[in-house]
Amino acid sequence: MSRPVSALVIGGGIAGAVAATALRLAGIGAEVHEAYRDPGDGVGGSLAIAANGLAALDLLGVGDAVRAVGLPIERTRMTVGGRDLGTLPQLAGVEPMRMVRRGDLHRVLRDRAVAAGAEFRYGSRLTGVEERPSGITARFDDGSTATADVLVGADGVRSTVRTLIDPANPGPRYTGLLSFDGDVPAEVAFDGMTFAFGRRAYSLYWPEPGGRVVWGANLPSREYLSLKAAREIPGEHWLDVLRATYAGDDPAGMLAERTTPETLGITGAIHIMPPVPHWWRGRMVLVGDAVHAPSNSTGQGASLAIESAIELARCLRDLPEPADAFAAYEQLRRGRVEGIARRGARINSTKTPGPVARRVMQLVMPPLFKRMDPERSMGPELRHRIDWAAAVPMPEPVRASA
Ligand SMILES: Cc1cc2nc3c(=O)[nH]c(=O)nc-3n(C[C@H](O)[C@H](O)[C@H](O)COP(=O)(O)OP(=O)(O)OC[C@H]3O[C@@H](n4cnc5c(N)ncnc54)[C@H](O)[C@@H]3O)c2cc1C
Repeated sequence: MSRPVSALVIGGGIAGAVAATALRLAGIGAEVHEAYRDPGDGVGGSLAIAANGLAALDLLGVGDAVRAVGLPIERTRMTVGGRDLGTLPQLAGVEPMRMVRRGDLHRVLRDRAVAAGAEFRYGSRLTGVEERPSGITARFDDGSTATADVLVGADGVRSTVRTLIDPANPGPRYTGLLSFDGDVPAEVAFDGMTFAFGRRAYSLYWPEPGGRVVWGANLPSREYLSLKAAREIPGEHWLDVLRATYAGDDPAGMLAERTTPETLGITGAIHIMPPVPHWWRGRMVLVGDAVHAPSNSTGQGASLAIESAIELARCLRDLPEPADAFAAYEQLRRGRVEGIARRGARINSTKTPGPVARRVMQLVMPPLFKRMDPERSMGPELRHRIDWAAAVPMPEPVRASA
């Protein structure tokens, strides 16, 4: 093999659009294949982009466009069983996270990728690949094919490319939580984001300009439902379940009451990706949730996807063989993303505390916040920066993942 000049990117979400831009800036052609038929399909809800993710987007010249569609969150606090446990310690000298509508984020990232010369094809779902010494050909469900030097799997937590790389990969773990969001006319006293551990379930909420409150619900559900299956169930049914679950929680009960089928977003099951043994094989490599989906509690999934997409392009830019580039990329990223995923798994296990655990949290959390050293706990996550200009050295030793 030799230095790649073209890439197929499977998945046109956050990782896919960012990978396409970064590949173009690295001098590599990028063709993005997205399964959804329309750029806006399936894209709902809001998510937070952390300071490290925003700094990574600055490298691609798109950080300010994302800031412009995002709401800065200056303060966060925790409530348990309705009791305010106070604001969480902040890390000094880093910009606030930005809450962005997923649809806005996708649009801004896609526009940047197109401006950089990437091509997007919609309604193009990868079903298989054929690898040859001279390249890789992807097959899509509409019968079409496309060929390039390398194939980047940015196809999310239920990745097809991950299974093509390693059919025995462990697959994502369902956390037992289904997510929903709502955007309702309401007022809340706190001007930042509240993480609320209620009687039966967790939620989070924040005020938006114009007298509205946006809230997200994590509904415990033993039964796993795909996003498609959850959206096939009428919104009225989900609202009944959410209202019963959050009844008596202030303000989640009120937010659930005010949410209508039109303002309810069904955003799908929450997964955690256990460590993936094989990040790459031959001409295929994984990026974003396909290879490292931490729990949504970390607020880092999208930011890590952005970082990884940029580091992958940097490695492909600087190392002559895809195998070296992929090995260097894995060495740069694995420790960081798995460390953050471990933190997320710990938070997730406390999301639905029973009455005794809630009481314990009420007692131990406030003094814990006072003692917490944000530099130690958050510094490595939020201050991480990519040196795009620096040349990537050969991986030592080269670890063949195949
Ligand atoms: C409820 C919830 C809240 C979250 N909140 C946050 C947050 O606040 N902050 C944060 O950083 N992260 C958050 N996350 C995580 C974040 O959404 C993900 O980390 C991020 O979307 C990963 O981007 P991605 O591009 O890797 O995957 P995705 O966004 O899943 O995109 C994958 C794309 O690939 C496409 N695709 C899949 N299969 C194929 C195929 N075979 N062929 C072609 N295309 C295919 C899909 O249609 C999709 O468009 C949250 C997640 C959830 C569920």
